[in-house]
Amino acid sequence: MKKVRGILIGRMQPVHNGHMQVINRILEEVDEIIIGIGSAQLSHELKDPFTAGERVVMISQALAEAGVDASRYYIIPMQDINFNAIWASHVKMLTPPFSIVYSGNPLVKQLFSEEGFEVRQPPLYDRKRLSGTEVRRRIIEGENWEELVPKATVNVISEIKGLERIKNLSIKEVSDI
Ligand code: NAD
Repeated sequence: MKKVRGILIGRMQPVHNGHMQVINRILEEVDEIIIGIGSAQLSHELKDPFTAGERVVMISQALAEAGVDASRYYIIPMQDINFNAIWASHVKMLTPPFSIVYSGNPLVKQLFSEEGFEVRQPPLYDRKRLSGTEVRRRIIEGENWEELVPKATVNVISEIKGLERIKNLSIKEVSDI
């Protein structure tokens, strides 16, 4: 029987518990989920500190930790392109065929619905706390960020010295003049 596939695309900087809840919710509705690691070309920036490869490890280990069957997901890094009008086709080229797009991002929803895809907006889980912006802010401020992310994200950030990286990126350059 033909598999129903859904796609969720996110920068996942870093992977947090909101992403995990959305993924679990989507897996209740489809046979397989495609997880697109967006803006794969970006890293070592305050808003985008982690490489695509580091984010792949975070999400795959978090899914393993959550006991999700590996035959039910694909993890695919995808670079941004300069042309929004053909971005949905770019994504289609990189992924297994899918019919449902899950997103809370207005631009993502618009671009895929214009291409005729069914777009579903999953519920937002505790969005004030469960966001990459809040996780990165807490890291910089030295607050408890670990409670917002899966254990796998904590482990990967520790292995790659991610705290030092983010704190270093947050130091503004001081001009000599
Ligand atoms: P994100 O990591 O902020 O969010 C990913 C998804 O998870 C979103 O659908 C969001 O609604 C959902 N989510 C996040 N926190 C949640 C929570 N607490 N509860 C429930 N859901 C939650 O990533 P994003 O910014 O939406 O990623 C979109 C990606 O698509 C970016 O990488 C962007 O650059 C890319 N994009 C590229 C182009 C282009 O290249 N032209 C165009 C559009 C989008």
